[in-house]
Amino acid sequence: MKFMKGMYIIWPDYDYIDKAIDSGIDTLLINLNSGDSKEKTKELFERYHNKVELVPTIAWMQPHYFLFQDQQFFDGNKFYEKTACPTSVSYIKNLLKFPLELYNNYSCKSVGIDFESYGIGKYHRVIEYHELWENGYICKCDRCKNLSQYEQRIINAENIQKELGTAKLYHLPCVNPFIWRIGNYWFNEFTYEKWGAWGRILKNTYKMKKKLSRLPLNTSGLWMEKFTARDYLDRLKEIVKSPATDGYWLYPQMRMSKNCYWRLHPEDPYSKESLAELPYHSFIDTPNDSTSDPAFFSKLKEINNNIDDWRSGWWFGIGSLIYGFFR
Ligand SMILES: [Zn+2]
Repeated sequence: MKFMKGMYIIWPDYDYIDKAIDSGIDTLLINLNSGDSKEKTKELFERYHNKVELVPTIAWMQPHYFLFQDQQFFDGNKFYEKTACPTSVSYIKNLLKFPLELYNNYSCKSVGIDFESYGIGKYHRVIEYHELWENGYICKCDRCKNLSQYEQRIINAENIQKELGTAKLYHLPCVNPFIWRIGNYWFNEFTYEKWGAWGRILKNTYKMKKKLSRLPLNTSGLWMEKFTARDYLDRLKEIVKSPATDGYWLYPQMRMSKNCYWRLHPEDPYSKESLAELPYHSFIDTPNDSTSDPAFFSKLKEINNNIDDWRSGWWFGIGSLIYGFFR
């Protein structure tokens, strides 16, 4: 099986995307919520669709969408204007329209859906529906009122799958059996900053394995702004050598993009808030910067070139057998 060498793209910068692809990155998860126009996004797909796998990726929760009342979650007392009713088909159709257009026009294999409930606290009435699948959220709208919570969640997943058609689902980041049932790759964010096969991957896959007959593959995310270039590459090396993972994905926000919103609008409160939480802001290959490395991409290439060797030894085979029990 092919080991995924992925990268998440928020604020596309062709120079850095080119460097990444030249270093062996083979899958780009393109965030469709970064504010770029559809034309700009199509330009990116046009440019790269024959070179690497492209995954049009959309967030499940859209704080800027207007939801009609029959698309809203209703708890029996109030409507949640930013949370979709789990059985609303029109919400899913609307959400997946542009990702599926890209999927169809550029021969993609998959569509990515980020199930994280962005805007919690900031936006009015948001339910963490997919993260907190064990919490018993139940919609009591006219369509849902006679359905159990379990039935609502099954219908939700089935409707997503139906709309996706032949597109595989790559999903982030929740550990949720209803979504895992229809997923092909789980984009793991527990590995963003810390590593540990058991705590970050297997604990979660094992929990799901008891419920499901088939699990999605795991690909481990690694957040670039949280590491020096050197520590980042060391961590990546650890990840690719682990039999617990089926791939990795780089998660750079500003260290691989001159178009990062926070770079362009440093005075915006959103930028200040975001930057305050990130230890490393410089480009990952800046010369004369102790947190960066001008040879970053040649070192990344070297790691990628060694992956097949590292993952074919007898020691790796034994590890895969043992870990296979948990995933
Ligand atoms: Zn409902």
